Amino acid sequence: MSTTQQPANIPPRKRLFVTLMGFTCLIVVAIIFLAWWIPNRGLANIHPDLPRIVGIIMVVLSGIAILGTGLLVLTTALGKDIFLTRFMRLVVIKFLLPVIELVGRIIGLDKDRIRQSFIAMNNSLVMSQRMTVKPDRILVLLPHCIQLSDCEIKVTGDVHKCLQCGRCSIKGLVDVGSKYSVDISVATGGTLARKVIVEKKPKLVLAVACERDLTSGIKDCYPLPVIGILNERPFGPCFNTVVDVSKIDHALSQVLEAI
Ligand code: SF4
Repeated sequence: MSTTQQPANIPPRKRLFVTLMGFTCLIVVAIIFLAWWIPNRGLANIHPDLPRIVGIIMVVLSGIAILGTGLLVLTTALGKDIFLTRFMRLVVIKFLLPVIELVGRIIGLDKDRIRQSFIAMNNSLVMSQRMTVKPDRILVLLPHCIQLSDCEIKVTGDVHKCLQCGRCSIKGLVDVGSKYSVDISVATGGTLARKVIVEKKPKLVLAVACERDLTSGIKDCYPLPVIGILNERPFGPCFNTVVDVSKIDHALSQVLEAI
């Protein structure tokens, strides 16, 4: 697939991941071809049919790489579970992301731009699965830095302790949680986030965090589907961060609508 031809309805953030995916696919095909071509003459010395047999295997492998990339692009563009979406999520998270991060580093792309693009691609694949999730099987996971630093109440452990003063995003998030009857937890780090997930056993997680934490969270939680929503950091990282509550509302309404 060409790296420049993108379906028109793929949003810009996902487009970067799709472009890098196409580029990575070309590299994989080139490596497969070189792996066949370089030892080709030596293979003929072992058996005259060997270059042809190995060539067929290499063509099949290249075809799988090209078809897989095409299917991923189509799934993302159409937002439908066409074929093996869960498996494709595995390929994206476990194989493509590290390769794409390496390619991005080599060509000098900003790490966070790649992560934003990965999160958008992951969200698209999760939504494509059109899961049926009951409200009590959804967990909204928030970072503690979303709470105002000088708030006297500590909402870690129980978000409903919030006094609803409205000085930080917690108020809006508690309102959305009540609106959809979904569980909300505030975690002070990755270890606590994992503990909450193990305890609550959700079927789907809607996580708010920065690019780095969302990317590692999505990787660590697989096969549990995670929808990632980026926080905003007007005062720098990990301090009085903010989230657009309407994005959480929209994501929840989409997931719950699928029931
Ligand atoms: S909205 Fe809740 S958590 Fe935020 S500052 Fe007010 S009382 Fe504290």
